[in-house]
Amino acid sequence: MEHHARTQNERLDVKTTTCYMCACRCGIRVHLREGEVRYIDGNPEHPLNQGVICAKGASGIMKQYSPARLTRPLMRKPGAERGSAQFEPVSWEQAFEVLEKRLGTIRATDPKKFALFTGRDQMQALTGLFAKQFGTPNYAAHGGFCSANMAAGMIYTIGGSFWEFGGPDLDSAKLFFMIGTAEDHHSNPLKIAISKFKRAGGRFIAINPIRTGYAAIADEWVPIKPGTDGALFMAFLHELIATDAWDHEFVRRYTNAAELVDLDEASENFGLFVRDPERPVGNPLFPQNHLWWDADAARAVPHHTAGVMPALDGRYTLDDGTPVTPSFALLRERVADCTPEWAAAITGISAETIRRLAGEMIQTCRDHRITLPIRWTDAWGETHETVTGNPVAFHAMRGLAAHSNGFQSIRALAVLMSLLGTIDRPGGFRHKSPFPRAVPPSAKPPNSPDAVKPNTPLATGPLGWPAAPEDLFIDDQGGPVRIDKAFSWEYPLAVHGLMHSVITNAWRGDPYPIDTLMIFMANMAWNSSMNTMKVREMLVDKHDDGEYKIPFLVVCDAFQSEMTAFADLILPDTTYLERHDAMSMLDRPISEFDGPVDSVRVPVVPPTGECKPFQEVLIELASRLKFPAFTTAEGARRFRDYPDFVINFTTSPNSGVGFLSGWRGTDGDKALVGEPNPRQWEEYAKNNCVFHYPLPETLQYMRNCNGPYLEWAVKNGFRKFGEPILIQLYSDVMQKLRLAAQGRTSGRQPPDHLRARVEKYFDPLPFWYAPLESGATDLERFPLAAVTQRPMAMYHSWDSQNAWLRQIHGENYLYMNPLMAAENGIADGSWIYAESQWGRVRCMARFSETVEPGTVWTWNAIGKAAGAWSLGPGANESQRGFLLNHLITDELPGRDDDVARRMSNSDPVTGQAAWYDVRVRIYPAEADARQTLPQFAAMPAVPGENGVISRIAQTYFAGRGEFTARLRGATGRK
Ligand code: SF4
Repeated sequence: MEHHARTQNERLDVKTTTCYMCACRCGIRVHLREGEVRYIDGNPEHPLNQGVICAKGASGIMKQYSPARLTRPLMRKPGAERGSAQFEPVSWEQAFEVLEKRLGTIRATDPKKFALFTGRDQMQALTGLFAKQFGTPNYAAHGGFCSANMAAGMIYTIGGSFWEFGGPDLDSAKLFFMIGTAEDHHSNPLKIAISKFKRAGGRFIAINPIRTGYAAIADEWVPIKPGTDGALFMAFLHELIATDAWDHEFVRRYTNAAELVDLDEASENFGLFVRDPERPVGNPLFPQNHLWWDADAARAVPHHTAGVMPALDGRYTLDDGTPVTPSFALLRERVADCTPEWAAAITGISAETIRRLAGEMIQTCRDHRITLPIRWTDAWGETHETVTGNPVAFHAMRGLAAHSNGFQSIRALAVLMSLLGTIDRPGGFRHKSPFPRAVPPSAKPPNSPDAVKPNTPLATGPLGWPAAPEDLFIDDQGGPVRIDKAFSWEYPLAVHGLMHSVITNAWRGDPYPIDTLMIFMANMAWNSSMNTMKVREMLVDKHDDGEYKIPFLVVCDAFQSEMTAFADLILPDTTYLERHDAMSMLDRPISEFDGPVDSVRVPVVPPTGECKPFQEVLIELASRLKFPAFTTAEGARRFRDYPDFVINFTTSPNSGVGFLSGWRGTDGDKALVGEPNPRQWEEYAKNNCVFHYPLPETLQYMRNCNGPYLEWAVKNGFRKFGEPILIQLYSDVMQKLRLAAQGRTSGRQPPDHLRARVEKYFDPLPFWYAPLESGATDLERFPLAAVTQRPMAMYHSWDSQNAWLRQIHGENYLYMNPLMAAENGIADGSWIYAESQWGRVRCMARFSETVEPGTVWTWNAIGKAAGAWSLGPGANESQRGFLLNHLITDELPGRDDDVARRMSNSDPVTGQAAWYDVRVRIYPAEADARQTLPQFAAMPAVPGENGVISRIAQTYFAGRGEFTARLRGATGRK
């Protein structure tokens, strides 16, 4: 009875918000008792996950009440060494005063000495704006060490990419290839879609060195050697072209296959698309005066001339004597030798299998063509009575991207998808707003050191999409201007920056020393750095005068981690349940194939301790430093706080385009474009925190070249220009950089030591080459590829402190094929060493039939340093868990004598970190081994940290009041 009475009086509440236990952004319902989180489930009314929740999402409760929470601003104790994790609490006012003074001085003298790099945050529109207004180009998020190749390789080809940018239309597909993906950012939606696809009889083929995650339910697993996917795609292209099974209509009209390429080797336009000087260029960023060859009339004509069937093969001569050929002819020549037998020797997949898989694609396109009765008009004015599609869909991610040949491999995949005629058509790949973007998008990075001026915002954002040497961010000698060397000749298309190079470059002072490095939610002293041991040394290294080589390090995070030990100033962030967030159309929204969708988070519980959302920190600093966009004409503060900023900020004074696209206008009755609405947050909160704007059916397909869609996109702020987005099978952006490297052009050229590199890798057509590290490795001594994967129950290191999730993944093994293990004298479950030419770890072996024999692998970021994440020093994560990063180099070898010529271990096109290129050998460890190596001195707790992960957390019971007090009182380590 007493229990019944208590239940009746309990204060129960349900609030909706958006999950952030991984990057997927599902809608959740948070159930509260007495203001404490009782449990979390999926929101059935949310379009993304439709009520589905995963293990991570449901465990948010243990993130919220984690003993590893940082709860107070902390300053390194005077006299304490950096890295020793000795801190004392300070007030927020003291923290802001320190930052205002330090950053104000940097901004007034040399703004690039402030670097802001962020991890897997979802606020890049704000952090990028902050950097731009500060005037520093030294800004990027985590993309450079994640999947920048996936974004760049696809966007430089089709104007969109996977996940937030687009994806496989599994509702209509019949055949689905998933490549290089275990668990995905698009987690629950992909699981829902694959489940429906399988129930409807679709065939699912997983191409991956390892069969885990989604691949576990694939109809066929095709093991492939890491870093060889590009060769497989080239062989598929060979088969499609050799059997004349590509989609002629799609390729001819919606790609640049028919556009004529200049073959005059003496010309500085060699290899570029020929332009008709008599015709208007139109937008110079996207010239519209390219030519086709009219085979019937035997003459060149403007591209897309009505009634003309352009040639796709052959060599021709223009009236002025210029030899030309359609770009498709060059693609045909490129893939001629890429036979299945050639690819079999590289990939480990038999030629027979490659032929069969290509045959399945061809047969599915032929026998299952989709025709929808949707009338639409293309960008050249031709009306089509139907939308058609070939139901072969692909999804790929970091397994392809995280190699030094990833950009060109992904280009090959994008070209394959295009030749199959599957781009933004039913059953194939579909874009998500605001994509498709132009190829390349029109935003450019700064292109000269003069772009950086004291007390002045940058004229452009710090990141962008170079289209020619003129867009690179280099000095007069061709040297880099950014601290990570992005957009230099070393990594010209580094569209997401190179976060993995920042600490090494700043430590070395190459290209210059910086003063303050601010890191937000990135574990750069552990799983987010290559060469982790050395990076940890760099973070504490000093000049002879005793000054740290990186003088001031600010770390903003919600949890104690390996990284916080190295901070000079720690700013405690809130959890996702304690703050406002905007998954904005200006950033990475959650759009669906049928139209734009954005979403928000709203606080469901108050901040813990003195935690403050990082957005509020940025708004406060921007206001104190009087950034123009954050200051009124009278010099006063413009935005009260982050929610106020989101409501009132617009991209330009009267654009009507802001962070959120729903319920705009003073009455909230406008969508996408409209005046600020003071009640916008309330509207989102009332509507499951999500706004969905379905497009009319006629605008939902073929958006690269759908005339009315392109007009609509310009009118609603999704695109700046309305030119059609022709798919770039052949990339003259790449050719322009290659011409410069060859010295054929009069403009900017790479320094001599980079000419051969740029010339080789900036090929206008996709090609496969061996990962760069292979060329620097004795492959007989280190014969195995070693890769990591992210498990479904743990998002990188985010939930190492989560009392529930660490019961699923609290230690990790090196998985290997039993036959290979036997050859190396290794028993299942035994202790072994894995060694690369860069380092050695001791770990446990585990046999698995689902890994190809040349590969070993482990889960990412399960291993921890002792005491990190408030785990006890004897916790499994540090004693039986290990980090593969210790085996991975951040720089390629062979140039140690010449600092200026050291290259990041990255893709030479984009600077994407080549995590998966490392080669290792394995051998048995000592018979008495009981612990992984390397080991680290246990990190102490910091002031304000709740305690250690213990049984208290596991017995948490919401609404019983004493829980938080018990956690705070916890002392002993278990
Ligand atoms: S998939 Fe990601 S966003 Fe969705 S419920 Fe799971 S953890 Fe949360």
